[in-house]
Amino acid sequence: MARPWRVAIVGGGITGLAAAVWLRDLAPAGTEITVYEQSGRLGGKLHTGELAGGPVEFGAESFLMRDPTGAESGAVALVRRLGLAEAIVHPTVGQAALVVDGGLRPVPGGTLVGVPGDLDKVAAVAQPAADADRDAGRPLLGPDQDVAVGALVRDRLGDQVVDRLVDPMLGGVYAGRADDLSLVTTMPALARAARSEHTLVGAVRAAQAAAPRTAGAPVFGTLAGGLTTLVEAAARVSGATIRRDATVRELHRGPAGWRLTVGPTRDPDDGSRSRRGGRRAELELSNVEADAVLLAVPARPAARLLAGPAPEVAGTVGGLDYASVALVTMALPEPELPELSGFLVPATEGLLIKASTFFTTKWGHLRRADRLALVRASVGRYGDEASLQRTDDELVATVHRELSKVLGSALPTPVAGHVQRWGGALPQYTPGHLARVAAVRAALRAAHPTLALAGAGYDGVGIPVCVRSGETAAEEIITALGGSAA
Ligand SMILES: Cc1cc2nc3c(=O)[nH]c(=O)nc-3n(C[C@H](O)[C@H](O)[C@H](O)COP(=O)(O)OP(=O)(O)OC[C@H]3O[C@@H](n4cnc5c(N)ncnc54)[C@H](O)[C@@H]3O)c2cc1C
Repeated sequence: MARPWRVAIVGGGITGLAAAVWLRDLAPAGTEITVYEQSGRLGGKLHTGELAGGPVEFGAESFLMRDPTGAESGAVALVRRLGLAEAIVHPTVGQAALVVDGGLRPVPGGTLVGVPGDLDKVAAVAQPAADADRDAGRPLLGPDQDVAVGALVRDRLGDQVVDRLVDPMLGGVYAGRADDLSLVTTMPALARAARSEHTLVGAVRAAQAAAPRTAGAPVFGTLAGGLTTLVEAAARVSGATIRRDATVRELHRGPAGWRLTVGPTRDPDDGSRSRRGGRRAELELSNVEADAVLLAVPARPAARLLAGPAPEVAGTVGGLDYASVALVTMALPEPELPELSGFLVPATEGLLIKASTFFTTKWGHLRRADRLALVRASVGRYGDEASLQRTDDELVATVHRELSKVLGSALPTPVAGHVQRWGGALPQYTPGHLARVAAVRAALRAAHPTLALAGAGYDGVGIPVCVRSGETAAEEIITALGGSAA
């Protein structure tokens, strides 16, 4: 009897774990799946922690219920597959605000990530440029063209719409600037519509009509027990062997397919001691063999691993830049908070805070008997890493001061605070990103069909997209190994 397939998944974030579940479901019975995770914790940017005795998300908070076509999102499908559908909860307060001239104004409805489909609806926040969005007799975007979101929207609707609406909304997701980010990657539905529509407002309406929302249907969901329950269930159901504190350092072709050099978390080159017993880290390196490898790590570690077998694509993969952010969470005794899910701050307001979430207002399941309010603020924009050099105490104090200022009254002193730093965490997709990814994947498929790339560095940043990315890579591997992923 032929021996079972051995598939190595590098990276124990949601992409790698979704891939592991998909492989378990579609690969031949007995397939040996091993997940290598460099840290001691699975989940990557999904990390439910605890503050003042209650659960709180220190990373991603929720997932979209639907994908851009209107179908159930990959995250929801995975949640169902793992038997967690009953645990899905939705925001109890959905209305968010924007900071404009130091005060809070409701985020206007009817926009696509801030790009309006009805100019009147955004008038209280931003004045669109008069008459700039004219029909010039051709589609806004050529067949293979990609542009920066900011360039297109500034051209058609003026600076205020970008600076006060689109930039803070994109910044809330990517910590990046509308003037740098790719339309095709960050707003695929709008990009699709822009290939046939002649005005931007028309393109927004066409995109919205292509994926109509059921009135009252929730846009976001999360899990009552926290997103770590999704991570744990995926690891369990996949039946994969999970190796924590296991950094994959090198990747080479081996006699059976691939040879991975696996070591502990500390870099053997930096002269430091490994976690276990103080032995030199290089003594603990080991080589393992696999028939196929799925790289579900951010672009930089992926590029390092590709440098051996596929140097021609490693440079392109490693060229993707990332933004760093810090999340400051505070437990506040009975503060006076407006009935809002939170607010977004345009960069033009000159605050350190980029966005804030009133957790215990937004999510009914997080409300506490002791009436402590959990408030989280996100700090750090692409290109402004200096602001993250402050100490934790300085960050908490600044966030507390700025929140009080925006809310117009001094907030109570926090009874607990937490700072989670996410260094190099959010990919900055510049125009042409998806075309570069397609070229990289085509080159890999031709030279190394049993080596697949997946995750936020390639297909998109949201949890649903990462789930689908992992699943698609798993299917490619099954096909390459001679199975059928149908
Ligand atoms: C602060 C923040 C908030 C967010 N909020 C949301 C949200 O509310 N909703 C949403 O949909 N998305 C959100 N996102 C985006 C989303 O969480 C991420 O894009 C997604 O979780 C990325 O998953 P991933 O598995 O591709 O990568 P990661 O989560 O980065 O996982 C990769 C894993 O690989 C490991 N690794 C790296 N190198 C190696 C190596 N050499 N060997 C072994 N392991 C390695 C890492 O330790 C990590 O665990 C947020 C992101 C951040 C940073």
